[in-house]
Amino acid sequence: MRQPSRPDLDFLLRDSIENNFRGFCIHYQPQIRTSSKTLYGAEALTRWSCGKYGSVCPDEFIPVLEENGKIVELGKWVFGEAAKQCKKWCALQPDFRMSVNLSCRYLEKADMEWFAQATLRRLGLPAKNMILELTESWPVSGSRVNEETVLKLQKTGISLAMDDFGSGYSSLLSLQKFPFQMIKIDKAFVKSTTRDDEQAAFVPSLTQLCHSIGRQVCLEGVETREEYEAVRQLGIEVMQGYYFGRPVPAEEFEQLYF
Ligand code: C2E
Ligand code: CA
Ligand code: CA
Repeated sequence: MRQPSRPDLDFLLRDSIENNFRGFCIHYQPQIRTSSKTLYGAEALTRWSCGKYGSVCPDEFIPVLEENGKIVELGKWVFGEAAKQCKKWCALQPDFRMSVNLSCRYLEKADMEWFAQATLRRLGLPAKNMILELTESWPVSGSRVNEETVLKLQKTGISLAMDDFGSGYSSLLSLQKFPFQMIKIDKAFVKSTTRDDEQAAFVPSLTQLCHSIGRQVCLEGVETREEYEAVRQLGIEVMQGYYFGRPVPAEEFEQLYF
């Protein structure tokens, strides 16, 4: 939850980033292939803590970094670290896929596709093992991101996923306009799947829509067995949520899932 004001977060975050990303680390949450209940890949989720406030949640520190522009440096660091980890896990499971969140501020930078390509080449990691998650509201959020930027990214061979589908007003337009391979249905919809009224129709209908235009679906936020049972027959390709596993440090992820 957002804390009252912490006006020095901006300074503390800059200081961390300038000191070799001190206090930052990445946790990995499993994504499960629904048909076989086997590991599909992981989403890289950034964590940050500092001496003054301890652990601060991403919903609080990411907006500060987007505001001060440091999200670009963080984004590169996260992409590099997650790609390194992905390379390691691909040796254990060659079709492993690592998803990284990409801020639209990052996407405004013209060198994004160069940076991603150079990182993959340096590591000898195939582009198909990486997925970039973009939040659906960005194409109309006033950012200068355009179709051309997205197409350049797509040409690198990295898959694109639309994050938090259904949570913003631009979802259908973005879905129609951009070449996402995977659509992540927002976790806010999962609770409705176990209801016995018309609300239960949302996840099946959104899934059907995505499938009808040839997109794969990932359902986020599956927390309980009951929720899993309610959605497992819908043909959703990938699922993610506390029911399958919480975000954990790399070593723990390796022990739990490989
Ligand atoms: P997101 O991309 O939608 O990531 C999923 C969030 O849902 C994560 O929160 C995850 O811990 C949480 N989650 C996963 N399973 C469940 C579940 O079953 N139930 C519930 N209630 N929650 C679940 P987290 O790690 O706090 O991250 C929050 C947001 O911060 C992310 O939402 C993403 O938008 C942003 N974020 C995190 N790391 C990065 C990053 O490296 N770069 C950028 N640009 N944004 C990031
Ligand atoms: Ca995400
Ligand atoms: Ca999401």
